[in-house]
Amino acid sequence: MTAVRFAPSPTGRIHIGNARTAILNWLFALKSGGHFILRYDDTDVARSTEEFASGIAADLAWLGISPARVEWQSRRFARYREVADQLKAAGRLYPCFETADELDRRRKRQLARGAPPVYDRAALRLSAAEIGKLEAEGRKPHWRFKLDGRSIAWNDLIRGPQTIDTAGLSDPVLVREDGSYLYTLPSVIDDIDFAISHVIRGEDHVVNTAVQIEITEALGAAPPQYAHHSLLTGADGKGLSKRLGSLSVAGLRESGLEPMAVASLAALLGTSDNIHPCTDYQELAGGFALDKLSRAPARFDEAELAQLNAKLLHHLPWEAVKNRLAGATEAFWLAVRGNIAKLADAETWRLVIDGPVAPVIAAEDRDFIAAAKELLPPEPWDGSTWKTWTEAVKSATGRKGKPLFMPLRLALTGLSHGPELAQLLPLIGRDRAAARLSPG
Ligand code: GLU
Repeated sequence: MTAVRFAPSPTGRIHIGNARTAILNWLFALKSGGHFILRYDDTDVARSTEEFASGIAADLAWLGISPARVEWQSRRFARYREVADQLKAAGRLYPCFETADELDRRRKRQLARGAPPVYDRAALRLSAAEIGKLEAEGRKPHWRFKLDGRSIAWNDLIRGPQTIDTAGLSDPVLVREDGSYLYTLPSVIDDIDFAISHVIRGEDHVVNTAVQIEITEALGAAPPQYAHHSLLTGADGKGLSKRLGSLSVAGLRESGLEPMAVASLAALLGTSDNIHPCTDYQELAGGFALDKLSRAPARFDEAELAQLNAKLLHHLPWEAVKNRLAGATEAFWLAVRGNIAKLADAETWRLVIDGPVAPVIAAEDRDFIAAAKELLPPEPWDGSTWKTWTEAVKSATGRKGKPLFMPLRLALTGLSHGPELAQLLPLIGRDRAAARLSPG
């Protein structure tokens, strides 16, 4: 059984970059018939809040992602403690008493000598008596995982074969002096306990992977498969970090974008597939494969998202929007969808249909408009009324093409552009049309 997880820290809301990770996991789960688990990485209890967590849940719900299961790391400390004790007993987790200052000085000396700033394992050379003395002084240890220092290889489902030699890494601190956990150990334990088969996440975690594989194996488990996707940059190729506020999922939602436009862009960016709007995840999942994702940074362009949003709306069926357009009809939607960039723009066209509209009638068109008004067919009106009417106006006035159509559009809508009049006219109806065709 395939299981993936999206593991945000609820220390803030998610932005388009996190959303992309979530969407890729969601598509993978859909495609493989697996579970998508939402895991709150909230071991940092001081910075994590329930409010951010529920905000993230709302962001995912808006995106159309519904986790099969939700887990909170803050509720699993007893389990982490149990595993930490197991690693201590096996000699893989060892106490260290250096202060941050001491470590910093040591690193600087190493760098000055041209040596890599790798932790020298001085703590491993402490005798039991020395440890006893430090503890008697009231010093509390932090705990490092003793790496094997070997070549760790995995076949990354996006990046291909990867090898990292952990001999070049510092033994990672897994438990802080105050007993709190850094990200690494809880993440490994959860991936094992929740039977995560595939870890799909940003490439900023590639280096962590070697350490996580070592810890997983030290716990007697088989590592999951890994897939590290490239990170998003802005259209200018630079990191997104500065603009993340406006690119939060909540911000995209508030700006009136469609979730499937966001999902389509997030899923297709950085692939060789054409970027096109998909109306649902099933459609997106159809073309989805991790190995289509490029290793190069993917450029996120807000203008591209805006265009994709418009394109999506232009073909969106009535079913997909009817709950969000109070009082509208399918005929209205089909008439206006091709002329909107955001769903809220539909309101502009509702006002054009219902009025009041200030008809625009040029002096030289007054007689023409008056003649057209007389030729308005009787109701009921339908999609063929416009053609019947304009044919009659054409024969009576001798006008054709733009001089025929534009004055009618200007009079009926007050605008020189807009949805097909064949579709608008029956919605405007005879009474309103006649009133607008009356030169005031
Ligand atoms: N909480 C981590 C993050 O947001 C999760 C990383 C992971 O997927 O392992 O970066």
